[in-house]
Amino acid sequence: MKVFKFGGASVNSVERIKNIPNILQQFKQENLVIIISAIGKTTNALEKVVDSFFNQNQNVALELFTLIKNQHIDLAKEILGENFKLINDDLNNLFTEVEWLLHDKPARSYDYYYDQIVSIGELLSTKIISSFLEKEGINNTWLDVRDYLRTDNNFRAAIVDWKISTEKISTLQFNNETSTRYITQGFIGATDENESTTLGREGSDFSAAIFANILNAESVTIWKDVEGVMNADPKQFKDAVLIEELNFEEVIEMAFYGAQIIHPKTIKPLQNKKIPLLVKCFLDPALKGTIIKDDNIKQLPPIIIIKKNQVLMNLKTKDFSFVGDKPMNFLYELFGALKLKPNLIQTGAINVQLCMDENELKIQELALQASAIFDVELQKNLELTTIRHYTKDSIQDMLQNKNVLLKQQTKETVQVLCF
Ligand code: ASP
Ligand code: MG
Repeated sequence: MKVFKFGGASVNSVERIKNIPNILQQFKQENLVIIISAIGKTTNALEKVVDSFFNQNQNVALELFTLIKNQHIDLAKEILGENFKLINDDLNNLFTEVEWLLHDKPARSYDYYYDQIVSIGELLSTKIISSFLEKEGINNTWLDVRDYLRTDNNFRAAIVDWKISTEKISTLQFNNETSTRYITQGFIGATDENESTTLGREGSDFSAAIFANILNAESVTIWKDVEGVMNADPKQFKDAVLIEELNFEEVIEMAFYGAQIIHPKTIKPLQNKKIPLLVKCFLDPALKGTIIKDDNIKQLPPIIIIKKNQVLMNLKTKDFSFVGDKPMNFLYELFGALKLKPNLIQTGAINVQLCMDENELKIQELALQASAIFDVELQKNLELTTIRHYTKDSIQDMLQNKNVLLKQQTKETVQVLCF
């Protein structure tokens, strides 16, 4: 069997949803588990509902939710026509669950409400798409993933209980004569008390990897609106090229430096079972796409990753003492406490330079606490460029018309902070 994943962008319009049967037609004989995200930007919209609800703006929360509800009803009516009535009750049950909750006052944590409310995005999208596929003659079984994917109750960043999830997911039956297709939700799961949980933003890729690992899938395919994994963002680099083959380690590295291709948690469950990950274009499934596997890949082009909105914090020891163990330990403890992950650290004799994402609150707090032993200086609006597998030319191109503030280079990776 194979696992497919369709992200929010691949189902963000009537036209794109109508394209899914075309793709599935080409895999008629396959047993499939199809993981789907919330439609388009639904998760962001639901986050706003949660914020309003938690800030005691109940009316605003309900209004915002009604907008989301109507968008889904309109879309479902348009693609299902007559068949809309087949899922009307199911959709209403989902809406009512959230509306009930929104009529109360918040009594539990923000993260708890977040998961109860936001999880509806995936439940709605899969209900609608599953019904649409049936209408198009593509038989499938809709699963509520909350009956299969068990997590702890660390809401918003729930940890998967592999043992129980394996027991449950392994009960899925596949028919070898006719193909079996299950449609289910990415990103969400449930606790042993049946409370909804989420795995962290963009977590649907990870869900796909969990199902693939447990079911020993032949492969996972992530369907995207791009050709595959490119060596740079084609919106910024006209001569960006497709990378046909990558390995899991390279993808982890790329994710670390800020490439937003695949959720980093996706990799380990696949690597453990040597399950290849394909990134393919749903607009043109005939294109080759990228295959990511557990291999040594010899020749990779320079891979360019740009992070904007960077801040450089320059710390100098107040007493001019060397930056030894103590000041560094002190800093690392602050990073841990503030959940801050610098993108680049460079130490000198009496100073430390930190490049970080611009997060106003955290940076202020770090500056304040660090000022106990350091003089602190800040520089904002910077750009951090990372080139993996750099060449002389690629560095030169990169540095044209740029002012370099900091550069760090290893055998494989060069990072340059510029303004
Ligand atoms: N819908 C969720 C999000 O937008 C999960 C996902 O798309 O992977 O974060
Ligand atoms: Mg998404």
